[in-house]
Amino acid sequence: EHQTQPTHVAILPSPGMGHLIPLVELAKLLVSQHNLSITFIVPTDGAPSNAQKSVLESLPATISSTFLPPVDLSDLPEDARIETVISITVARSLPSLRDVLKSLVESTRLAALVVDLFGTDAFDIAREFDVSPYVFFPSTAMSLSLMFWLPKLDEAVSCEYRELEEPVIIPGCIPILGKELLDPVQDRKNDAYKWLLHHAKRYRLANGVMVNSFADMEGGAIKAVQEEEPGNPPIYPVGPLVNMGSSSKAEEAECLRWLDEQPHGSVLYVSFGSGGTLSYDQINELAMGLEMSQQRFLWVVRSPNDTVANATFFSVESQKDPFAFLPKGFLDRTKGRGLAVPSWAPQAQVLSHGSTGGFLTHCGWNSTLESVANGVPLIAWPLYAEQRMNAVMLTEDIKVALRPRHNDQNGLIERQEIARVVRGLMEGEEGKKVRNRMKGLKDAAARVLSDEGSSAKALTDLVLKWKTQKCK
Ligand code: UDP
Repeated sequence: EHQTQPTHVAILPSPGMGHLIPLVELAKLLVSQHNLSITFIVPTDGAPSNAQKSVLESLPATISSTFLPPVDLSDLPEDARIETVISITVARSLPSLRDVLKSLVESTRLAALVVDLFGTDAFDIAREFDVSPYVFFPSTAMSLSLMFWLPKLDEAVSCEYRELEEPVIIPGCIPILGKELLDPVQDRKNDAYKWLLHHAKRYRLANGVMVNSFADMEGGAIKAVQEEEPGNPPIYPVGPLVNMGSSSKAEEAECLRWLDEQPHGSVLYVSFGSGGTLSYDQINELAMGLEMSQQRFLWVVRSPNDTVANATFFSVESQKDPFAFLPKGFLDRTKGRGLAVPSWAPQAQVLSHGSTGGFLTHCGWNSTLESVANGVPLIAWPLYAEQRMNAVMLTEDIKVALRPRHNDQNGLIERQEIARVVRGLMEGEEGKKVRNRMKGLKDAAARVLSDEGSSAKALTDLVLKWKTQKCK
């Protein structure tokens, strides 16, 4: 009876803006290029965040969203890690997910349920209704290859991975030291590792896995997940799906106006994603390093993550103002050449601005892909999650980034090192090579997304499966 209706897809994003953003880009493409209709089903552990709501409310009418009733997480230990929190949120949302899926099956041609990283427990509900479960993997093909490899690695290795003397060989990828692997594998006794392994084993149960990457960037890893492991479901490299930006908030305009006045390709954009923070000492070194480099910069400044230790030096008021933690006189001395903005910048617009010539990034995958889409070369400053793996791939494998070194004694990246790498990227010979390779990658990204390109084709193949599949 639903045969005349558009094919419908339900998307279950795990909590967190970094996960929602690429799924929203996917949904926009499915609607605009393939005439599907979409429902976002959003698990929550409290009131939805304003950021989530405003993103979802700004979407076209063919994309609707439902927030599931908040689950109670009060029994979780204080120190439960994010992977655990997300996984349990999804697991406890299954009864309400069942209700929503049931009504979607009754009212639409529901062909697929797409989950992201840690949503695999929802597969069971999809199967109950004969709806095909899919994974959208919002990170690298390298991390995806690790996910498929993890069950074997887990059996083969008995110590902590960081204790291994030899680098770990993830199929299709540059060898990587155990200590650079993603956070949740760093402590195998922690629940976060158990959850990761649980999801890794379940990825094979999906009817297919989309990954936000493309062959010109990660050819080896993509080939490995597609070909080397016989038990893997079909893998669809559909990236880079990125937010190219369209926002008009007045407070955002200031830094864009400032960029308008800077010379072409002269500004280093400095940002650590939606959640990245530095210690008080590290902020100080970064400020002094930027100043010493003599380069132009646009820095999204956050308050330090160890202010409690310094609480006696700062009033409660000043703790809310991130600029209060900058070195004395820094803003005056760098005035004109540098601009600091508190907490948040319209990153998509900043990266597509002609004046932006480099990006010092925490290597979050969305940030990385946004930089690729705009041909902006990187300084890799990984902080958490899988960002160290991304940094190794970007600096040592495809060489579109420079990476400053820590001082092993104090764990800091010091001002001289920062100044050296910033100058190296913005005006050095090394920087030129990195910049050229990034330009090449930008062209490749445009190619794979164009009509005959590999990513566009992968998505078309998948949509065809959905459209021709029998629905209840
Ligand atoms: N972002 C932004 N302004 C900021 C910081 C982040 O617009 O000041 C956006 C950025 O463009 C990207 C996302 O937030 O789309 C961050 O995702 P990413 O995967 O890079 O890092 P995460 O925040 O998940 O660590």
